[in-house]
Amino acid sequence: MARAPTRQRNWTKAEIDLLVKLWPSGETPTAIARRLCRSVGSCKGRAKRLGLVRPASDKITKRCLYCRHLFATAHRFIFICEDCKSTEKFDGSAGL
Ligand SMILES: [Zn+2]
Repeated sequence: MARAPTRQRNWTKAEIDLLVKLWPSGETPTAIARRLCRSVGSCKGRAKRLGLVRPASDKITKRCLYCRHLFATAHRFIFICEDCKSTEKFDGSAGL
């Protein structure tokens, strides 16, 4: 009697459909892997082969150079929080 394979199962159409739907949705690879009862590595490999892309990476938390408060931004090169930017000092005419 054949033992249940512990190695990779073949992906079914339904699983692939679910991966295609979930992968770009912003759900974490860990959560997606859990829903598919597969390893994260397996999901990542399959997603890559299918050409699926994750949404632009989640926002990063930075410390504002001006008010020193933490703020979230999707941009790596932003150093001033929106609050400070919206004040007159940062309207682009400062010092001119
Ligand atoms: Zn600030």
